[in-house]
Amino acid sequence: MPLFWLLATGFWIPFFLKGGLMDIFDYMNSGDYEQLLFSVDKSTGLKTIICIHDTTLGPALGGVRMWSYAREEDAIVDVLRLGRAMTYKSSAAGLDLGGGKAVLIGNPLKDKSEALFKSLGKAVDSLGGRYIATDDVGTAMKDLEQIRTTTQFVLGLPLHLGGSGDSTMPTAHGVVRGMQACAKEVFGKTDLKGKVVAVQGVGKVGSNVVRLLHEAGAKIIVTDINKAYVQAIVKETGAAAVDPDAILTTKCDIFSPCALGAILNSKNIARLRCQIVCGAANNQLEAENNGEEIQKRDILYCPDYIANAGGVINLALELTGYDADVSYEKIEHIFDTATAVIARSKKQKIPTSRAADLIAEERVAASRKLKPWFSGHSEH
Ligand code: NAD
Repeated sequence: MPLFWLLATGFWIPFFLKGGLMDIFDYMNSGDYEQLLFSVDKSTGLKTIICIHDTTLGPALGGVRMWSYAREEDAIVDVLRLGRAMTYKSSAAGLDLGGGKAVLIGNPLKDKSEALFKSLGKAVDSLGGRYIATDDVGTAMKDLEQIRTTTQFVLGLPLHLGGSGDSTMPTAHGVVRGMQACAKEVFGKTDLKGKVVAVQGVGKVGSNVVRLLHEAGAKIIVTDINKAYVQAIVKETGAAAVDPDAILTTKCDIFSPCALGAILNSKNIARLRCQIVCGAANNQLEAENNGEEIQKRDILYCPDYIANAGGVINLALELTGYDADVSYEKIEHIFDTATAVIARSKKQKIPTSRAADLIAEERVAASRKLKPWFSGHSEH
């Protein structure tokens, strides 16, 4: 992952470029971080960093990203940036969860072993539930099953183990609810029938977004760097296809980024030919000011962590006993959250990206202010 990409996503002052690792404490203070835990295990090759950004609302939930980072500093930057984003996502979704993340340094294609994930589980367990792991780029449900053998603090397990199973359809549902909220604002009605939607990336989530849009009667244009994925979804839904380089400038009503992050920047925002941007990809904006640039173009942006919260909403239900119907009921409310973000953006004349941040920050701040009444449950 290019360092530039890691640094380009808003909140970041590269401490190691400023002159040494000690600046990390300043960085953590300025971003209100709680903890960063480095764990190694020579016997399994474990090198992991767990970031706990904020546990005001509840335990810090976040995926384990396995990646061959070129430099250890890149892994630190990634885990800090991603951990903080999880606080915002869970807070805005109304969940009683904080934000965190883990990075596991290694090549997911070569370095996985049962022992590695068991030792990762022990590192997670040492935090006593302050961090809850799930899967992310480079890790999958079967890795979580191994982590589960050494810690109970894992979500996203298969249904037969009491988990919530595959989260990609719940995520896709949420994205479509976000689109409907934006459509109500821009076109006056939630109906997506006949609307032209350009979907970038038809992997696990993107293909499900296309399926739901197809059911809703939208006209769909897809792309992916994986031609087989494109062919399969075109065959299944009759969607049209364009080259990956063409999707951003394809004329459409809604552009839906469902591939990688940092795909919208100061240069290409000027070339968008849509009225709404709403997709599943995390960290779609390359820099913080991109939200304002999109707004200036009169394009309505549904902030990524609002639209793609379906996955985390689905996961959170594992904590109280998973029920798919309840999950979908809760995911429906992404429409209301997106509507509230749009209303706040209009009222304060701020970009929707900023409005979403404020909503997330205020919920955490309000919770921090609660009186610390003794509940009588403490063992001490
Ligand atoms: P995925 O890997 O299954 O799909 C991503 C797809 O994007 C792949 O098919 C890939 O070939 C394609 N792609 C990559 N670069 C591209 C490019 N330049 N142009 C076109 N296509 C490109 O991943 P996913 O699970 O579907 O997740 C998609 C996005 O949604 C990611 O950013 C992920 O972080 C985010 N997200 C996923 C979930 C979830 O439940 N899986 C939840 C929240 C957010």
